[in-house]
Amino acid sequence: MLGDQIMTKTSKNTGLLNNLEYEKMLDRALNMLPTEIKMEESFEIPKLEIIIEGQRTTIINWKDIIKKLDRDEKIVLRYLEHRLGTVGWISAGRAVFQGRYKKARLNKLIDLFIREYVICDVCGRPHTRLVKEKGRWIKICDACGAWRVVEKI
Ligand SMILES: [Zn+2]
Repeated sequence: MLGDQIMTKTSKNTGLLNNLEYEKMLDRALNMLPTEIKMEESFEIPKLEIIIEGQRTTIINWKDIIKKLDRDEKIVLRYLEHRLGTVGWISAGRAVFQGRYKKARLNKLIDLFIREYVICDVCGRPHTRLVKEKGRWIKICDACGAWRVVEKI
């Protein structure tokens, strides 16, 4: 009877230690992951404010978006033109596109742009630059030094 109790207690303690070890390991593993979750916490883009008038869609807070993306606005404009299959131009600090496009679709495209052209694939941070070399765009991370050829815009 007494022996049983001691045995139970001991095995319980061992179980607790194992749990702590496991949690420590999990913490370590999570810290090593360049996860998207982490990226989203540290890099938030304002949601697009748009107006649809007639056959035109205007992004009003374009300047804020560009500032946050820290990319040449011509690249972002061209990216959106190609993805939407339309023409666009910049007018008085706003981006205007021919056609009617839903806010959700535009936000999604900006999100995809960030993943491909802004966030580092290795460390998950946004401290990158786009450099054009021999007709290709290369994303270079100033935080960790990683680089990758990105999709043609
Ligand atoms: Zn990096």
